[in-house]
Parts: sequence; C-alpha cells; structure tokens
Amino acid sequence: MTNQQLMQRDLAVLWHPCTQMHDHEHIPLVPIAKAQGIWLEDFEGKRYIDAISSWWVNIWGHAHPHINQAIKQQLDTLEHVILAGFSHEPIIELAEKLVALAPQGLSRCFFADNGSAAVEVALKMSMHYWHNQGEKQKTRFVSLQGSYHGETLGALAVTDIPLFSETYAPLLTQHYRVPSPDWTQAPEGMTAEALARQQFNVLEQLLIEKHSEICAVIVEPLIQGAAGMKMYHPVYLQLLRAACDNYGVHLIADEIAVGFARTGRFFACEHANIRPDFLCLSKALTAGYLPMSVVLTTEAIYQGFYHPYSTLKGFLHSHSFTGNPLAARAALASLELFALDPQLQRQQQIHHVCQKALEPLKNHAHIVNIRQTGTICAFDLVQDKASKTPFDWRERRGLQVFQAALEQGVLLRPIGNTVYVMPPYVMTDDELRYVLKVAGNAVDIATQAPAKGSDVGVSLP
Ligand SMILES: *Cc1c(COP(=O)(O)O)cnc(C)c1O
Repeated sequence: MTNQQLMQRDLAVLWHPCTQMHDHEHIPLVPIAKAQGIWLEDFEGKRYIDAISSWWVNIWGHAHPHINQAIKQQLDTLEHVILAGFSHEPIIELAEKLVALAPQGLSRCFFADNGSAAVEVALKMSMHYWHNQGEKQKTRFVSLQGSYHGETLGALAVTDIPLFSETYAPLLTQHYRVPSPDWTQAPEGMTAEALARQQFNVLEQLLIEKHSEICAVIVEPLIQGAAGMKMYHPVYLQLLRAACDNYGVHLIADEIAVGFARTGRFFACEHANIRPDFLCLSKALTAGYLPMSVVLTTEAIYQGFYHPYSTLKGFLHSHSFTGNPLAARAALASLELFALDPQLQRQQQIHHVCQKALEPLKNHAHIVNIRQTGTICAFDLVQDKASKTPFDWRERRGLQVFQAALEQGVLLRPIGNTVYVMPPYVMTDDELRYVLKVAGNAVDIATQAPAKGSDVGVSLP
C-alpha cells in the first residue's frame, strides 16, 4: 500500500473532523502506518515528529511499552462492563488516584468518554445542583471571549470561536461572555497581571448584576488553547475564585487541554492555588490511548443530589462507555509514569529548552508574541512586526507553515496565524531544538511564499 492508494480509499468513504474536505483535492492526506515514541511513520516509510502530541493527547509518545502492557493485561481480564449498578477495580483505583492528585476538596469523580461530554456534565451538574437547592432561576453560564469548551451543543454554547459556533447559533442557548485576560491584548507597557485585573473587573460587574441567574463561570485555566494558545496571568483565577464564592456562582475549570502537567504544574489551577467546583479532564487523561473524560467535584455538590427517594434529584446523565476499564488502565499506567518524576522535572526542562530555542525567533520579521506556559510554546505570524499587523487569515500562512514543516518531517498544526509546539514529554532536548528550528524554517518559507486563498479564514485547532 502506498500513501496515495490509502488516501484514495480514505477519501472515498471517510469524512474527516474539523476539515473542509475539498481541501484534500490539493492538500495530501497523510496515512500513518505506525508510530513509536515521538515518531509517526507513513506508508512509504517517511517519518514525522509528532510535535503537537496528536491533538494534545499523546503525552508519553506513541506505543509506550508501559501503557501498552497495562492495556494488554486488562484486555484479558475485563474489557468493559456497565458502570451503573456495577463497578470494577481500574475505575475505583483511577478515581482514588485522581482525587489524591486534584486540588483538595475535589473528592468525587463522574466519568464520561470525551472532553465535550465532560463539559456537558459539568454544565448540567451545576444547573441541576442549583435547581435541587430551589434556585430555579439560575440557568445561565459565563465564558470568556475566545473560549473553547467543545462542540456538542451545550459545550458549543459556552464556546466563543465563531468558526465553530456561528452556523449553529439558532440551536445554542444564549449565555454571557466577558473579555479574555489574554495578555497579547495588553496595550504597550501594560503587564499581563494588570490586564488580567482590568478584564476581571468586567466579569465582576456582571456577577454583581446577574449572579442570581448565573450557575457558573467556565474557564480554561491559564491557556485558551483552541483560540490560539492565548495565555494569561494566574491572578485572574484567584480573583475569579473569590468572586464566585462571594456571589454564589460555581467555578468550572476546563483543564481538558492543560491538565496533566502541561503548564508545569500537575493541574493549571495549582498556579493560582485555587480549587474549582468542577474540574474537567480528558485529552491527556489516558495519554492519548483511549477516549475517556472525568469531572471531579466537591462533596457538597455531590450531597446536593443525594436523596432517599427522589430519583429526579439524582444526576441521571450517562454514556454507554462510561468508565471503560481499558481506558482506566491506560490512565493508571500514565499516572505511574508521572510518579517516576513527581517534581515534574522533565516538564521544566522542556520549558527551558524551548525558551532558549525561541530566542533566535525574537528578531524574526514576521514573528510576534512569543509566549510560553510550562511545556507549551507559541508565537503569532504577522505581516508587519512594528504595528503587529496580522496576515490576512485568507492567506492561510498557518497552513503553509504546516506544509513546510511536514516536508521537513515535523507535524505542526498552526491555529490561524498562531504556531505552537505542544510536545510529548518523552521528546529529547535535541529533538525539541530540532522541532523549533524546523518551525522557524517553515515560517521563513510560509511568510515568503505567495498567499493561498480561502473564502473564509481558517483557524482550525
Ligand atoms: C479539546 C477540548 C475540549 C473538547 O474535548 P473533545 O474530547 O475534543 O470533545 C474541551 N475543552 C478544551 C479546553 C479542549 O481543549
């Protein structure tokens, strides 16, 4: 089988996620035959470094022997069982471990099978909790501009990426949206912290006026991933926690992208030393092996559903594959790998190596807003550096970076004009330096090439 043959078979029957399928008339699809560590290999033996951890999930590289072994063992014991009325050891063990790792007070785990579903669970649980308390007027949520919380209808209603949500507006409940603390929006001379405080004032004003109808504020702690790795100061989370307590509103931390040490701490909330009322996890939970998500919450919220005879007061949400034992084993094996480096030294080293490797890009004529949080680094492409005038989205410079990097054996997937690297933790220092060098080369090529047209801009994560 050649890449070409695979691609033809694929394009005859598949419909790919987050894709205008017509693009594949001129952009070749990359069929992957196998993967090992940071390397993906296509059907013609060409290898690519997976510098985005396969959509941010694959933290320990592909086919990690320890995780493979754990899944194989589980496979011969118990592959799946209904989780309502039944239980099993891997899911109990995983819940125990997550509770121990999470900010103190998050003592209950509700499992689902993808990130969007976890967000739906958190939204429904929050509203249902207030409902059970007799606060039936609480039906609204608050999210940040540029937020991304998934693409099912509930999650999409608190997502602020027009490319994903605009078309479906008639199906989406109206919620509140407040300015993002993203520091790249700070005027010249303003610190990230000052901007965070300023933007928070708008949110606080909203809570003062509307808290009686607001269930929860939902945020992506520290990094708004799909908006283009927008980063912000942790003081925003501290102020938000205090305000939520003051005004009787829940705080939902969507750590689906940033959990599991991405930010240099095990959970991003730890940077602000706060405990959310709901913590949503998925993506890296199973190290990119199997779909699984979980919402952690407090005993107080759990108790709000506990009732001697009212079924309706219980949380009746369910998914067929909730708590799958194979996925739980993968997650446990991943946590065992974390336990080998409890100080997260590898993640700090990744941060250092990227910091150094980004230095030379500071002077690049088309690069601005170089930024880093933990193991994630990003920068934006601009047409003019002094005025930070962006390239027109329609020119698809990001797509050109993707193509140029792929040529050089590195998988990058810019979001609009934002190039980022989100490496598996097993990537070596030299490999990381190589990835950032290729990113720089790819930017050179993409910013010099003629523009490629598209009717609307693309900003696909
Ligand atoms: C990816 C993501 C989601 C959605 O998760 P899926 O598993 O893709 O449904 C939600 N929130 C954030 C912050 C994400 O990055």
